[in-house]
Amino acid sequence: QHALLLQLKGLENVTLDGRKIHVYANIGNTGDVGAVLQNDADGIGLFRSEFLYLESKDYPTEKEQFKAYKTVAENMAGKKVVIRTLDIGADKQIGYFGLPREENPAMGYRAIRICLDRPKVFKTQLRALYRASAYGNLAIMFPMIVSVQEVRRIKTLVEEVKTELRKEGIPFWDGVELGIMIETPAAAVMSDVLAGEVDFFSIGTNDLTQYTLAIDRQNRKLDSFYDPHHPAVLRLIRYVVESAHKAGIWVGVCGELGADLSLTETFLAMGIDELSVSPSYVLPLRKKIRETDVGKALERDAAEG
Ligand code: PEP
Ligand code: MG
Repeated sequence: QHALLLQLKGLENVTLDGRKIHVYANIGNTGDVGAVLQNDADGIGLFRSEFLYLESKDYPTEKEQFKAYKTVAENMAGKKVVIRTLDIGADKQIGYFGLPREENPAMGYRAIRICLDRPKVFKTQLRALYRASAYGNLAIMFPMIVSVQEVRRIKTLVEEVKTELRKEGIPFWDGVELGIMIETPAAAVMSDVLAGEVDFFSIGTNDLTQYTLAIDRQNRKLDSFYDPHHPAVLRLIRYVVESAHKAGIWVGVCGELGADLSLTETFLAMGIDELSVSPSYVLPLRKKIRETDVGKALERDAAEG
């Protein structure tokens, strides 16, 4: 099995009928880049930046963050690296943030809400990201978006950061793509409008399932109710893909569902442009893609109504 997978290294992620798709990897630490390259991912579709904050005793400085992002960008040697800005909340203990306990942390003061509320903390991360963009193919994405207003506020802060860096003579790449996670029902429903504001979408199926089905993803008692194949979730995903393509932007899936091989055909038929999965799933997913015929799948779906 292992040897068989190794034979897939260097091959394209292309279906039997010629549809190409990007297969990227999800990572949570700079040390994971080795596994990404070993498994021959086309890029990094989700770099969770929380580790920098969790490992640190105080707010990580711009310099510390810059070094981490630069290392990943350089090691990926021109391949795309999508870094997600801070996504913490009351469920993750970070003392120096001074977050009060909450009854319902998943729906609480978290992620982009904290960043927009504490622009100094947010801008430190944005500056580090833009500085690192001079060293590779970086993209930035923002978690837990629910509204167009949030995206506009983010873009204003990004412009401020770029202006500052220009004034200071610090180099950065002007081509950095800005994207958002689609992981709330609000973002999925508003995706037609949101698509006009950003360069890409990445669908976070873990949270999208949690919020759509009103099922706490941390509550093990609810495991048997947690159904990411629920038609409501799949309908939202289909709509998000349609919205993205109408606006001419790319759309990926970076939640666990991207690695669910029983859905690969469905995602390809929907037109998903990218799937981002744990490094160990990259080659099994490539195998699945190369065995799939999207045209046939679409014909069958049409026949089944
Ligand atoms: C998701 O919600 O699907 C996701 C990819 O983000 P996280 O698992 O980090 O919440
Ligand atoms: Mg999430």
